[in-house]
Amino acid sequence: MPDLTNLGEVFQTDVLILGGGLAGLIVACRIKETNGDTDVLVVEKSTAGSAGGKANKGAGVMWVMDETDDVDAFREYYCKVHGHDLCDQELLEKLCGSTLEMVRHLERWGIDIKREADGRLARLEALPLWSLCAYDLDILNKLKARAVQLGVKTLDKTQSVELLTEANRVVGAVGFDLIDGTYRIFKSKAVVLATGSCNWMVSNMWFSGRGDGIAAAYRAGAELRNAEFSNFYNLGVRGSMEALVGGQFALYNSEGEYLAAKYCGDSEVDIDIGILLGMEKEVMEGRGPIVFEESEFFANNAIGASGLLFRWKRPVADAFWHRLMEKQAKYNSDTAWRPEVIPMFIGEFAAMKTDHDMRTTLEGAWALGDTNRTGSGWSGARPHPSGLRGSGLTWAAVSALLSEKSLVQYAKEAAEPKIDPEQVSAFKEQIYTPMKREGGLSPRDAIRRLQEVLTPPRFGVRKSKERIEEALVRVREVWHQAETEVTAAKDWHMLGLCSDLRNMTQCADLYYTACLARTESRGWHYREDFPARDDEKWLRWIDLKQNDGKTAISTHRIPIERYKTKPEVVTAVR
Ligand SMILES: Cc1cc2nc3c(=O)[nH]c(=O)nc-3n(C[C@H](O)[C@H](O)[C@H](O)COP(=O)(O)OP(=O)(O)OC[C@H]3O[C@@H](n4cnc5c(N)ncnc54)[C@H](O)[C@@H]3O)c2cc1C
Repeated sequence: MPDLTNLGEVFQTDVLILGGGLAGLIVACRIKETNGDTDVLVVEKSTAGSAGGKANKGAGVMWVMDETDDVDAFREYYCKVHGHDLCDQELLEKLCGSTLEMVRHLERWGIDIKREADGRLARLEALPLWSLCAYDLDILNKLKARAVQLGVKTLDKTQSVELLTEANRVVGAVGFDLIDGTYRIFKSKAVVLATGSCNWMVSNMWFSGRGDGIAAAYRAGAELRNAEFSNFYNLGVRGSMEALVGGQFALYNSEGEYLAAKYCGDSEVDIDIGILLGMEKEVMEGRGPIVFEESEFFANNAIGASGLLFRWKRPVADAFWHRLMEKQAKYNSDTAWRPEVIPMFIGEFAAMKTDHDMRTTLEGAWALGDTNRTGSGWSGARPHPSGLRGSGLTWAAVSALLSEKSLVQYAKEAAEPKIDPEQVSAFKEQIYTPMKREGGLSPRDAIRRLQEVLTPPRFGVRKSKERIEEALVRVREVWHQAETEVTAAKDWHMLGLCSDLRNMTQCADLYYTACLARTESRGWHYREDFPARDDEKWLRWIDLKQNDGKTAISTHRIPIERYKTKPEVVTAVR
């Protein structure tokens, strides 16, 4: 039997946190605050605090249920308009009840939460049922400093690749150093997946989401839920890579017809799949291109252009956004008076199934934030975070808070983990294989092939059995290439990309597998061969699990009798 220390560098800890973004850093801080003796190690692929994570790249606006917000009214609205009755309503209520606690912790940790002049959190007229808070984009730097001060250990530039298991229990992980290739073995009583979602490397600001933790957990035997709701699109000006948030209220066809009135729901404040289907229909019927009228954008847009980005004094955010806009003005290819708008694929595969304490279905493993946003069930029939802007950050933070108690208790009581050196050795052989190939395909080319499948609206917005099956065949061809042909060309970062490729391909396969199973249309899942919602058959969640190398599908009835918001009889056909 191989000796662990001969196989790689060994680390031992009580709690291993994979991913040093918002969720990972918050849970690390909370564990150390409540249980100083617990050893916590954060392993980050990039650099925790500065480069890693998404929270330092976005709008920095978080959804909050303030004291005056009515949770019952919000639940009714959210479950019907956004969740399409597929929400775990109990978790949704738990989440609503935890957002102010999140604000309190952030302020305690020195995060400057921006408020209106009267001290209240922001409320927008167009968003009457909930509030927002904002912070500057240096939040992760501050949280990392706080975590280190509390005694959290961090290890950057280390890509975790596979989870180590002892029967049904997760007991650690393996990965490698992206600078010098050292193989790293992590032994831990509890493991937290905080590695973010999968965005398939399409849109530049979502580049870090490659599904690493989710795919590794699936391979280790964890269950996924709601994977069919992973097809998030924004709108973008052709030639630009930035999202036009709220742009649906400023679109016209070539005959000058205003499209929002035709394709957007009355109470839809964000982006609805209806506008994407409508844009495609207009173009297919000869009324393209779809163009964007800037004055409408400012007049009608509730969330994107309402000045939200620049409402507060946030020096880091201001510099970030101004630099981005300057670049956009300089390089954007379409400078027409009314530029052409196209659907902009974002993805958002966030399907780790968890309970209300964020436990996955594997003992010893928890999942947080962008890994389990859809899989935890609260957000219903739509991909993360459409509909409720600001909820990406809030979920990352609140899921971390909700996990802390059970995690700490488990780490205290669990038996010493046992690592199987044979498993560690087999993973090592598999991980470094692309490094040994003399020639072959660049992972970049294979990733491009994967993106060509995922991004066109005919595979991501308007689906059918035939097209999903075609997509699955093409995705599996890329998987075969990932397993047999790709070469890292003796470069450790390329080896990282080879691993990303496997993960992204696996996430794509699981997404289409779930899409094929749901034979109805609901929320962001639209099947032209099943255009109606079917409550009799499909008031259900779809779960996926690896079984003998194949994906086993099971469905679970929503316990609607326990929930306060009941579905209406729906007959509408889109
Ligand atoms: C442009 C943009 C704007 C946004 N604006 C907003 C907004 O205004 N409001 C809002 O609520 N939400 C917004 N979001 C979403 C929000 O930022 C995310 O939902 C949230 O930050 C997710 O936090 P997380 O910690 O779960 O994941 P992440 O921030 O994705 O962190 C995951 C971390 O894991 C690391 N990692 C990944 N794989 C591995 C691996 N194999 N080994 C080790 N480490 C790994 C990554 O490098 C990363 O640091 C925005 C997102 C983007 C991209």
